Amino acid sequence: MTAQIIDGKAFAATVRDKVAGHVARLKENHGITPGLAVVLVGEDPASQVYVRSKGKQTVEVGMNSFEHKLEIDTSEGDLLALIEKLNADPAVHGILVQLPLPGHLDEDLVINAIDPAKDVDGFHISNVGLLGTGQKSMVPCTPLGCLMMLRDHHGSLSGLNAVVIGRSNIVGKPMAQLLLGDSCTVTIAHSRTKDIQEVCRRADIVVAAVGRREMVTGDWIKPGATVIDVGINRIDAPEKGEGKTRLVGDCDYGSCAEVAGAITPVPGGVGPMTIACLLANTLTACCRANALEEPE
Ligand code: NDP
Repeated sequence: MTAQIIDGKAFAATVRDKVAGHVARLKENHGITPGLAVVLVGEDPASQVYVRSKGKQTVEVGMNSFEHKLEIDTSEGDLLALIEKLNADPAVHGILVQLPLPGHLDEDLVINAIDPAKDVDGFHISNVGLLGTGQKSMVPCTPLGCLMMLRDHHGSLSGLNAVVIGRSNIVGKPMAQLLLGDSCTVTIAHSRTKDIQEVCRRADIVVAAVGRREMVTGDWIKPGATVIDVGINRIDAPEKGEGKTRLVGDCDYGSCAEVAGAITPVPGGVGPMTIACLLANTLTACCRANALEEPE
């Protein structure tokens, strides 16, 4: 069997098109332009790439992008003052603080300072609680993108066995909540899970969010299962030239694709969907702030 490729890049383009159409209507009918503020502290190279890409795509769908680049030694007080200012700014509908923050800054404190209604990353404790209790919330972008691809591929997820590998607050736990919300039978595996291969082999859906290159191999996968690879691991690629690198996922694509029914590639799977969902969340936040009908 060779798995069907779930093309996150193409899917993300359709999500962005829908967002752009909605933004155009908001401008025309209501004179409102959604705005996303992204705050970057320090010069982490990967974070810089993400922030640039987010800013570019925000503008491409017709929204306003406000980038705030702060020095690495910015004090907690200064960062909190900026968040306070963005919370009060009616032109800003979404606020994203790029993680990880430098070590002297308390991530929980900073995230919980964001107005939950503008928390387009969905990491604020209020949004976590709302998601956990099945109420309307801001949903974290990466798991939301995974859910959209799964729904698109399967139609209904009801009754399917799903295994999420990883229990982080930003991917694993919200992913499990979303799958539960769609009536999957959910298992969360992590570094202490016994017989993890056996656990995964029972799954109709495997979502890998581990951060270990190519850890999940084909013999972990039930024939025909769907594999969603969240992992982004940069490795040396001497075949591309000296000093070159490439990205691989947490799943060994070749062996998994031989067994799975469907699989997301890395790159071109979950990654593009994450930014598309960030734009969709910003649009949702803008509609809610203006008491307008929300996009689907
Ligand atoms: P974290 O490091 O926060 O969490 C990793 C999880 O994997 C932990 O729960 C850990 O278990 C578990 N784990 C580690 N080793 C093993 C193992 N040997 N077997 C089973 N479980 C293990 O990572 P994130 O959730 O932030 O990210 C995971 C991956 O997803 C990374 O590659 C990251 O780059 C990528 N990512 C991709 C995004 C995208 O847009 N595509 C967005 C966000 C992340 P324990 O809790 O027991 O330590």
